Amino acid sequence: MNFDTLDTRTAKRAEELAKSLAQLKENPRVRDIRVIVPTHACPVCKEIAGTYSKESAPALPPEGCSCPRGFEGHYEPMLTVIFP
Ligand SMILES: [Zn+2]
Repeated sequence: MNFDTLDTRTAKRAEELAKSLAQLKENPRVRDIRVIVPTHACPVCKEIAGTYSKESAPALPPEGCSCPRGFEGHYEPMLTVIFP
């Protein structure tokens, strides 16, 4: 059974995203951070999709997001290539 409202889910998601961003920032192998959003995302989400430096990565979900099912994007690490 799932009594979670959309707001509760969005809050949980925001918490997870903040945690994942913090982990990526701490990882020295992560060079840049990409924001990936689904193709059916709202205009606000599509606007923020892209590649960011660790310092400039935006908090997710973005302010003003109007995705019908809540924010569905995520962070993706761009790793520093390490040669053996
Ligand atoms: Zn959105």
